[in-house]
Amino acid sequence: MSRFTNKRLNRLTPYSPGEQNLVGDIIKLNTNESPFPPAPSVITAIKDETIASLRLYSDANSTRLKAGLSRYFKIAPERIFIANGSDEVLNFAFMAFCETAIAFPDITYGFYPVFCTLHGLDAKIIPVRDDLTIDSTDYLDIGMPIVIANPNAPTGLSLSAAEIEMILVANSSQVVIIDEAYIDFGGETALNLLDKYDNLLVVRTYSKSRSLAGARLGFAIGSEELIDALEKIKYSTNPYNVNTLTQKLGLASIEADDYYQKKVASIIKTRDETSRELRSQGLSVLNSKANFLFVRSDAIGGEDLYLSLRERGILVRHFAQERIYDYVRITIGTPEEMNKLVCEIKNIIEGK
Ligand SMILES: *Cc1c(COP(=O)(O)O)cnc(C)c1O
Repeated sequence: MSRFTNKRLNRLTPYSPGEQNLVGDIIKLNTNESPFPPAPSVITAIKDETIASLRLYSDANSTRLKAGLSRYFKIAPERIFIANGSDEVLNFAFMAFCETAIAFPDITYGFYPVFCTLHGLDAKIIPVRDDLTIDSTDYLDIGMPIVIANPNAPTGLSLSAAEIEMILVANSSQVVIIDEAYIDFGGETALNLLDKYDNLLVVRTYSKSRSLAGARLGFAIGSEELIDALEKIKYSTNPYNVNTLTQKLGLASIEADDYYQKKVASIIKTRDETSRELRSQGLSVLNSKANFLFVRSDAIGGEDLYLSLRERGILVRHFAQERIYDYVRITIGTPEEMNKLVCEIKNIIEGK
């Protein structure tokens, strides 16, 4: 580290994203992107005049996109916060709502501990059960903000809305952040709880079910007070955080909802078929409500499986964390990609 950096930066281990910009003929199942392109109307949404308008700053309030989301979710625009990916929403939420600490599961999204170190917060890490499910009764009266990904990553396991509600009731003086990055793939959303609980912040992304990972767009829905706090952070860091093109794409994709519902249904179908195939080969597959599977084999370790698949041109994700070292996380691709994956896993295990 440079002698010029501060101590907090020296201590920080940054988030390590899955590999991008791969060369050659690789099946990319490592970062939970959609295998489908954005809807045709989204692809044609950016006109020359929009590009010409880039000489102006973007709308700091994302007014039209907010209005679109407001209609879609039937919720006041003042209760919606828009940001440069949900990672930015989460970062701002950690800044806005945490005093000294925040609680989250030991097995979850790798960015939460990074934000803790970045902002000098203690992480209260709550272990998941042996089967990697979250026990909601571990989150009662925690005395600090809580963040839970639901469905959780990288397990794909989910809590019911009733379990989330129990956590909200038992922590009524703390903010509870529910990160719903994967909710469109089958979990129960907490959105319906928003009118009853002013401590709930629901975070969503366009990166997974909306095929816009590269556009960087995420949002949060909560009480006006929580949203005001996030706006305050935004206007104190980067008011033009969402560029003009992305705002357009975001609005166009709300209007193309039918397309995305079909694609999500198709991903769910492929997920469940792949899951059945892998189980029939003797692998353990967690019951995923996301666009990925978390998979373990008695015949081969997680790192070995990851490396062997990589050699065969299929990239999945392995995490160097003790409790999940035996697992790999596999993004749901096209049916053809998943057939190839199932076939190669079979070859690898038979060749052992
Ligand atoms: C992918 C992911 C995000 C980040 O999404 P972006 O909107 O692309 O920043 C946030 N939370 C979880 C749990 C994720 O898996």
